[in-house]
Amino acid sequence: MPYDSPVLELTTQLIARRSLTPDDAGCCALIAQRLEALGFRSEWINAGGVTNLWASYGSGAPLSILAGHTDVVPTGPLEQWHSDPFAPEIRDGVLYGRGAADMKSGLAAMICAVERLLAAGPVRGTLAFLITSDEEGLAQYGTRHVVKVLAERGIKPDYAIVGEASSNQQLGDRIMIGRRGSLNGVLKVFGKQGHVAYPHKVENPIHRFAPALAELAATVWDQGNAHFPPTSFQVSNLNAGTGANNVVPGECVAVFNFRYCTESTEASLRERVHAILDKHGLRYELAWQLSGEPFLTEQGAAISAAQAAIAEVTGLTPELFTGGGTSDARFISPWGAQTLEIGPINDSIHKINEHVRVADLEPLSAIYEGTLKRLMR
Ligand SMILES: [Zn+2]
Repeated sequence: MPYDSPVLELTTQLIARRSLTPDDAGCCALIAQRLEALGFRSEWINAGGVTNLWASYGSGAPLSILAGHTDVVPTGPLEQWHSDPFAPEIRDGVLYGRGAADMKSGLAAMICAVERLLAAGPVRGTLAFLITSDEEGLAQYGTRHVVKVLAERGIKPDYAIVGEASSNQQLGDRIMIGRRGSLNGVLKVFGKQGHVAYPHKVENPIHRFAPALAELAATVWDQGNAHFPPTSFQVSNLNAGTGANNVVPGECVAVFNFRYCTESTEASLRERVHAILDKHGLRYELAWQLSGEPFLTEQGAAISAAQAAIAEVTGLTPELFTGGGTSDARFISPWGAQTLEIGPINDSIHKINEHVRVADLEPLSAIYEGTLKRLMR
């Protein structure tokens, strides 16, 4: 072993595998090999070109899941990287490479944590890894698919830790306990195209839509709650017009998104948008796409175990956070698990020169071990 840290060693082995979504590039095979050596049973739930590993150990309740993804986002311009993104390199105590923080260090830290945990004595219930190669892409055939397959078998998780980069300034200063939901809409408002000089012969879809848009933008969807800010509505694209200055266009298209909290639901938001559009008498088509439902893990065994483990390892009290983008926790939490995201500092994820602090790797692994120990001994 070229390094004195098992987590560092495994992290570098994973970074060296060029696993651009949905290509797993052999990461899961390496992980399965490590877990099988501990007595885990591997099952491949691959679908649609996506590699999905479900590896479990023990039997019965509670079922604790360690979850993550092997895929990484594209590198961006290579000339801006100070070293090859797939040739892990340490400079000044920092490990550089694509996936260093999102989330190959998290995966390596989890695997090493379980190796130590099982070496120290038996655990109760079932311990399982759910690992996919499509979290950064469409995420149709990744964790969403595996959860569906396992739920159909009657498998119900109790706890889940997703190893996504959650920390803010220091390792352990923040964990994710929930996320807002994300709901997209593509709205097409119809009018009647014609010459601007003959207003009685046209129907301007921009003029028709403007007051409805003003109402949508001004609507208070909810007040938020103790864990979430209020639901927000944002238009990301608004297009109409032929390019000519003497033509009223025939339609106007708006693309919008709701980031919504647990005070609203997909159904309530859809209903309210339709009510506003109908009130303004628009002729329209509206296509909805639910990207993820909101979830929230309430204070309970999982949060308490993580808080105690983080305090023990780092001396910090983590902030319980619900902001930021989405992750596969959106599929695992509705399955019934108390779901947390715990991982390294996230400031470099998806960026050029992505990195993780070498000194954080073994402590991160100790946080996972301490959390599991409290849930499974
Ligand atoms: Zn990630």
